[in-house]
Amino acid sequence: MRKLSIKMRVTLWFTLLMIILVILMYWFMQFISKTLVEKDAKETLVQIVDQNMDEVELDDGEFEIDDDFVYVYNGVYSVIYKNDGTTLSGLFPSGVTTDEAFHEGEVREISVEGEKYFLYDRMVNLLGMETMWVRGVIMANSNAGITNSLLQIVLIALLFLVLCAALGGYRIAKWSFEPIEQINRAANEISDGKDLSKRIDLGEGEDEIHRLAKTFNHMFCRLETSFDGEKQFVADASHELRTPTTVILAQCDFALEYVETPEEYRESLEVIDRQAKRMSHIIGELLTVTRLDRGIEKANFENIDLSEFIVLLCEEYRNNPDQNIAFSYDIEPDIHANVDCNMINRLLVNLISNAYQYGKEDGWIRLELRQRNGTITLSVRDNGIGIAKEDQEKIWRRFYQANTSRSGNGNGSTGLGLSMVKQIAQIHGGDVLVESELGKGSTFTFTFPNDFKAAA
Ligand code: ADP
Repeated sequence: MRKLSIKMRVTLWFTLLMIILVILMYWFMQFISKTLVEKDAKETLVQIVDQNMDEVELDDGEFEIDDDFVYVYNGVYSVIYKNDGTTLSGLFPSGVTTDEAFHEGEVREISVEGEKYFLYDRMVNLLGMETMWVRGVIMANSNAGITNSLLQIVLIALLFLVLCAALGGYRIAKWSFEPIEQINRAANEISDGKDLSKRIDLGEGEDEIHRLAKTFNHMFCRLETSFDGEKQFVADASHELRTPTTVILAQCDFALEYVETPEEYRESLEVIDRQAKRMSHIIGELLTVTRLDRGIEKANFENIDLSEFIVLLCEEYRNNPDQNIAFSYDIEPDIHANVDCNMINRLLVNLISNAYQYGKEDGWIRLELRQRNGTITLSVRDNGIGIAKEDQEKIWRRFYQANTSRSGNGNGSTGLGLSMVKQIAQIHGGDVLVESELGKGSTFTFTFPNDFKAAA
């Protein structure tokens, strides 16, 4: 049974159900018709015997059976007996003998050679004459002929109906399951050809199968985006790593071929060192982003005094004499929050480093921390070069660098920083947004709930 298709199984179950219903219906009809036929037989028997009883009479003191007495009529056989049981007149059908005692006005059931009969007696008391009896007998199913023929016709009609229902049911099941076949075909094509751009097209509709197809399409869409993202990520990562690798190889070739003095060797080694550090930095960032993505790097949430934690970090920047950009902060005290300290540190370092990197000579950076209605807002504002409108959405993508002149090879830029910031914000149940104007500066705002509980 399990090897059969669902439409075949549905059809078989449906047909079986129809057959059971037909059998029950036929049985019920037989029962009803038998009851009606027997009731009719009893009524005919009583009516004819009662009529016959009136035809036994006295005429001028003489016992007489009127001509209207019917011995055989409508399946009823009537016989007149004396009180001692001897037959006066009439005959029963062959094989039927009755030596039953007389019972006035009572229809009884007897069985003769396996057949069921009804028996009915009426007593005739004529003045001055001895008591006589009129006994009638009728076969219980004497009028069943037409009903039986009708039942047979009904049975054939019902069987024909079952056949039509089975064929129709199979067509309906096939038609109903066709969209599932389509879903199946599309899913197979996708898995065979690994073509995630394929979609299931069932046309318009809101039924369960259309909803299932929509869910599948949504899933394919997400898979496609996710695979494309992976492919893009691998391509971008290879591209980013190729640049320093090429420089290192070229520098090695150059040193081996042309360099002669220790100073020249030193210079070459310094180039190689810079590029190797850059590679190491990119690989480190790649690992972090991937770990955050895959959930390998688990957040270690703890309730800390966030204000104090950020003040300490800001102090390091404020006391940094290498920068000619003024760093200031305004931190609301006593803000406690459930956070992963390492991640928050990484997020802030990224935002502040960017503010420095894309800042202006003698510019400023300002960091603010606020809490309103259970939401913590941390913003890093600068009056740097700003970000063009069309880039503001793209800067969150991995490896995207809006301003390549500033994020050149030497300064540790990878284009991964902001995508990491976004991940950390989301891990804390919040988000990070940017407001920026080209040439005027940018504000990155990270908002999150202070009592965020990460899912286990
Ligand atoms: P990168 O390593 O290049 O800094 P990020 O992901 O941190 O990568 O930033 C992506 C891009 O967003 C940067 O290349 C830069 O163009 C832009 N950007 C980020 N922060 C700022 C900022 N404070 N001011 C102007 N541009 C910024």
